[in-house]
Amino acid sequence: MKKVLSPEVYEKLIKTIDDGSKIDLTIADEVADAMMKWAMAKGATHFTHVFYPLTGCTAEKHDSFYDPGSDGATAISKFKGKTLLQGEPDASSFPNGGIRATHTARGYTVWDPTSPAYISENPYGTTLCIPTSFVSWTGESLDKKTPVLKSMQALDKQARRILKLFGHSEISHVSSTAGPEQEYFLIDKAFYYARPDLMATNRTCFGAPAPKGQEFDDHYFGAIPERVMSFMFELDRELFKLGIPSKTRHNEVAPGQFELAPMFESANVASDHQQLVMTTLKKLADRHGFACLMHEKPFAGVNGSGKHVNWSVGNKTQGNLFDPGDTPHENAQFLLFAGAVIQSVDKYAKLLRAVVASAGNDHRLGANEAPPAIISIFLGDQLADVFEQIKNGGATTSRAKGILNVGVDSLPELTKDAGDRNRTSPFAFTGNRFEFRAVGSNSSISGALVAMNTMLCESLDEIATRLEGSSDRNAELQIILQEIMTKHGKVIFNGNGYSDEWHAEAAERGLPCLTTTADALPEITSPEVIALFEKYSVLTERELHSRQEIYEEQYCASVNVEANVVTEMAKTMIYPAAVRYLGELAGAAASMKAAGIKPENSILKSLQTKVNKLDAAISNLESVHAAAGEETQKWAKEVLPAMLEVRSICDDLETIVADDLWPIPTYQEMLFIK
Ligand code: ADP
Ligand code: MG
Repeated sequence: MKKVLSPEVYEKLIKTIDDGSKIDLTIADEVADAMMKWAMAKGATHFTHVFYPLTGCTAEKHDSFYDPGSDGATAISKFKGKTLLQGEPDASSFPNGGIRATHTARGYTVWDPTSPAYISENPYGTTLCIPTSFVSWTGESLDKKTPVLKSMQALDKQARRILKLFGHSEISHVSSTAGPEQEYFLIDKAFYYARPDLMATNRTCFGAPAPKGQEFDDHYFGAIPERVMSFMFELDRELFKLGIPSKTRHNEVAPGQFELAPMFESANVASDHQQLVMTTLKKLADRHGFACLMHEKPFAGVNGSGKHVNWSVGNKTQGNLFDPGDTPHENAQFLLFAGAVIQSVDKYAKLLRAVVASAGNDHRLGANEAPPAIISIFLGDQLADVFEQIKNGGATTSRAKGILNVGVDSLPELTKDAGDRNRTSPFAFTGNRFEFRAVGSNSSISGALVAMNTMLCESLDEIATRLEGSSDRNAELQIILQEIMTKHGKVIFNGNGYSDEWHAEAAERGLPCLTTTADALPEITSPEVIALFEKYSVLTERELHSRQEIYEEQYCASVNVEANVVTEMAKTMIYPAAVRYLGELAGAAASMKAAGIKPENSILKSLQTKVNKLDAAISNLESVHAAAGEETQKWAKEVLPAMLEVRSICDDLETIVADDLWPIPTYQEMLFIK
């Protein structure tokens, strides 16, 4: 921008981007012209206002920079400020949840100068993409971006009120930031196209477990297969070109599962970038012969995928406001912000559950590898201890970071974090940010950000009002924090969120557990939630109702498509296969009878008996993870011998059955063919 804009226009635009201050419209023409020239130099012929409708997808409509010249023989290129600022896609086909009738279909896209424009490349041309807000003719938001911006604006105001109370002389614009980790599966494209369930629903609605699953924990952080690595190299390169600071990549827990995490950015930009990450993942997977599955539970019995949204709040002058420093008990400002988060997560636990609700995520939340459907906060040992002290009258110490000695002289000593990690918590403090782990891998992160920002905004507002009206602010803050702990401390849980005991305990504590999307979505329009969003002008009651309606419809539509797929595949693929197999068996039985062979005396009967015995031996044992002591003995003394008995019959069969019918390569073939 510095290169292509005049210094005055550059300053004005940067001010809007940095401070969220009102955009000066007189700069639009110059910015538009500079954008066009920049894009054209990179081969662009078209531009598009990119927006984020309530489908959760990304939408775009392209227009050319070129208009026919008046002589009819030439074309002129132009891109005016007006076209940059505002577009008008026909909005009638986007979900609006009753906000707009088809005959009042006008919808506007409005330039968001705070999110960088970028160039999307295709082998045949390139397009200038401009992130925009999408609103109806009546000015109501029809998208996922507008409320994020509004929640950030509201949070900035309240956070600065608090900072002012702490006597800071210079306080810059406060922004919320997000670093979303994206989990996904890659499978070969050929399998994807052979499965109607994957094509229609992005998850397998059928499938028996593979003999080997994820029980060896050998995939997580394992060496990345070469084909996947090639995909990742290209992915990172493409993401860098789009201005997305992709940073971390690794194998995830389940076989075929991977993760990508970018550096955190302003919540609005992170949210736009996260949409682009999903689009890019799909596009590049295809190029490498893969299908990228971002469904929350594409395979039963192995881990599903989530999107951990790392979230914090900060500014240039005071830094990260969730940074506790080394001695959090002395850091009143941090304790205030952390206390405000505790209060809001407890108060709006149902909202947090609702904003991550989707048909796909229901398969994950509450299952064994994902955070449970119960929303609780993990603070870590150090902070939990400080807040426990506050609850009991005042915090006087912070557990120090330890030193970890590995026990090998040549290895350096490590400083140990003040608290361990907890992978089972849906909302975990991770050193200088909160990590909301319940977000689904397929969904936009904006709903979560809007909820977190606005909830926090309300808590800060309340606290600021009390402090402003108090003559002894220090004492008042102690009281406030103590009250928060008494009233909302129940949401803090440092134990194992997957355990059955936690479900019982959470119920005793009065924490809600909304297990399905059907239970969770009505929370979007609960009186408390409407009051919250209206108070901070983030979403109106009408907008909330429209969202609830749209998400409920999406839920029903997803389940409906899945049910259609299950019926169709069961009827037209699985049933016929079973019938054909039965026919084969019946034919074989009839032929045996005609030939006078008695199946009950045959070797096949013994094979059946032995296989049943082995099956029983396995199912009599606990899962391998619980194996210990006596169980270990049983694997050795019961399962292994039963396996040998099956084998022995099969090996006999191999010596009898015609060679061309034998379905697996023989020892003879494997060892002697070179
Ligand atoms: P882990 O898997 O250990 O949680 P990752 O490296 O996969 O960690 O992801 C951590 C994410 O948190 C990154 O996107 C990182 O940029 C982000 N992050 C770090 N600090 C902050 C912060 N202050 N605010 C928001 N996100 C942050
Ligand atoms: Mg991670």
